[in-house]
Amino acid sequence: MRCKDCQSGYHAPYDRFERLGLRPDGPSFLMKCRQCGALWSEAPKGATLIHRADARLLYPDARL
Ligand SMILES: [Zn+2]
Repeated sequence: MRCKDCQSGYHAPYDRFERLGLRPDGPSFLMKCRQCGALWSEAPKGATLIHRADARLLYPDARL
């Protein structure tokens, strides 16, 4: 279950996120919400919620 903040999108307060991984080619970052564990892929054009399986594919080095 997503927390209220994640339900309304990727927005401040950003200190609720922990950075788990990065892709230099994006650049994009794998961010995890400390409140609900939701995984977000943050890129310059915006952030999207992603599933754990996709996070593993996109960020093989991340500790999930
Ligand atoms: Zn959340």
